[in-house]
Amino acid sequence: MTIRHFLRESGENPSPKTGGVPERADIDEKYKWRLEDIYSSLEEWEKVFSEVSARVDKITRFAGTVGESSVSLLSFLREGESVSKELGRLYVYANMKSHEDLRVTRYQEASDKAESLMTRYSASVSFFQPEILALPDGRIDSFLKENDELKIYGFYFSEMLRGKEHILSSREEELLARANEMANVAQNAFTMLTDADIKFPVIKDETGQDIELTEERYYRLSRSPSRDVRRAAFEGIHNTYGLYKNSIGALYAGSVKGDLFYARERKYKNTLDSALFSDNVPESVYNNVVGAAIDNAPFLHRYMSLRKRVLGLDELHFYDLNVPLSEEPQSDIPYEEAVNIVAEALSPLGDDYTGNLKRGFQERWIDVYENQGKRKGAYSWGSYGTRPYVLLNYNGTLRDVFTIAHEMGHSLHSWYSHSNQPQVYADYTILLAEVASTTNESLLLEHLLRTRKEEREKKWLLTYYFDMVRTTFYRQAMFADYEKATHSRAESGEALSPAWLCALWGELCAKYYGSELVIDDSLRMEWARIPHFYTAFYVYKYVTGFTAAGSFAASLLNTQDAGARERYLTFLKSGGSDFSLDILGRAGVDLRSREPFEATLRIFEEKLKMSTDLFFRTNAPNCSNVA
Ligand SMILES: [Zn+2]
Repeated sequence: MTIRHFLRESGENPSPKTGGVPERADIDEKYKWRLEDIYSSLEEWEKVFSEVSARVDKITRFAGTVGESSVSLLSFLREGESVSKELGRLYVYANMKSHEDLRVTRYQEASDKAESLMTRYSASVSFFQPEILALPDGRIDSFLKENDELKIYGFYFSEMLRGKEHILSSREEELLARANEMANVAQNAFTMLTDADIKFPVIKDETGQDIELTEERYYRLSRSPSRDVRRAAFEGIHNTYGLYKNSIGALYAGSVKGDLFYARERKYKNTLDSALFSDNVPESVYNNVVGAAIDNAPFLHRYMSLRKRVLGLDELHFYDLNVPLSEEPQSDIPYEEAVNIVAEALSPLGDDYTGNLKRGFQERWIDVYENQGKRKGAYSWGSYGTRPYVLLNYNGTLRDVFTIAHEMGHSLHSWYSHSNQPQVYADYTILLAEVASTTNESLLLEHLLRTRKEEREKKWLLTYYFDMVRTTFYRQAMFADYEKATHSRAESGEALSPAWLCALWGELCAKYYGSELVIDDSLRMEWARIPHFYTAFYVYKYVTGFTAAGSFAASLLNTQDAGARERYLTFLKSGGSDFSLDILGRAGVDLRSREPFEATLRIFEEKLKMSTDLFFRTNAPNCSNVA
């Protein structure tokens, strides 16, 4: 029950074009999500909260009983599911209501209450897993055989028991649990240092105004058309991290040592094996991500050349990578039209899908416009037993149309999974979380490239896609490569000094971006500002998600592939009912093979070729002027 995705970096959230931001009360009801389908009012919420709270207190009565018989096991599972379903509804309702207007504090208070109740619930049912793991071998199997209603829990229990060999004695588990807070110090200290203590310098923006750098402002400034501004922002951020390189290096080394400690104590082959275990992903998949990116790095090099040429630069630096190659078309697409564009772009998914999509639009799953106090950005959220709601701050740009397609991708995935799976498998894993949203974006991109006639729009669309490949595939694969190198070094007993980390970063940048990119000293510090590195071996999932989405979109658009639609719907309906790679495999995307990764980058190459024409044809007038 986490917010699936905070889609856009806050720097990209556009401000309204004209006039002031309206108060929520002045926005037409039809553009507001219908949260009253969850609870009619905060009073009803309070009533349900008290009931659930009482049930949470009583749930410990099941402790010591779950291994007794299949009937007692089933009663606990039923009660647990029923309570957690209501907890989810309480929590998302309070949060989404507070996001309507963050100035209204009573929903924030409700959300805090719901959160502590969830913590109490987790503590109350913490007996469950140890009791199951302590049962004699075969006990769960015999329960599943004798009780038909338990049968659906087969995969759930086999997953729980699969991890048994990595569970230690209860005394050891207790020690590990108590050491956990210390193990988290590196990450917590990194967050405190970077969010609270580090002060970045003041630079001049495009208008000559002083602006204090922050991580939040960096993204916007890195897209500035003024090279002086983006260089100052880049150097200001990275050189500041450089001042703390010994402290941050020590924190990162501490985090890696923590990974090592847990992997060894829990008897995994190594840290990577330990990180991949929960998704049951073989190491070869991780290696395919990195291998495909390196072997196809020449395509990224070509993109770097294209950037350099289009921007007319003598030298390409890292601070030239985010600036748009073509300005975002100043469009003012009415929301209703955006909805139609998305529905049309997603028509390869078939009538059932587009029918549900339209239903979402009509039944008010979506909170469309910005209003005073509303939370920024966009997300899709909900819980088992609610509709999948979408928060937008729709402003009429092409980017906003992509946001609708993306978030509705999440929502429809949840809708199909929740409607076709029992509660225990209703949620999909993180590994699958961005597949449906990115598939929708890919379909929309192809649709717009086919239907938009203006050259400026086509250029913008292609750059949007290139930067997605650069940041979601290559950049994350490079991060994955880095994490593998740092952990291997630590595993062989060598130190992770800041000098070594900077050198490694420089080498990786040269390998991935190629000789067109000048590797500035400031760039060698970039490793120090990536918070993801404190959750080791996570970022490769961005690459697998992006790749799976690209494969789905390609087969859905392939008119020869008659079964593509059915296979895709099977994927959407599967929730978390099996291992993620098997769910994808059954739907026709085999991430255990290298092929889908290669295919994704071949599409990148094709589009690069297409764009060379487009970008340099437009420059022709300059030449004819000379003539
Ligand atoms: Zn997303």
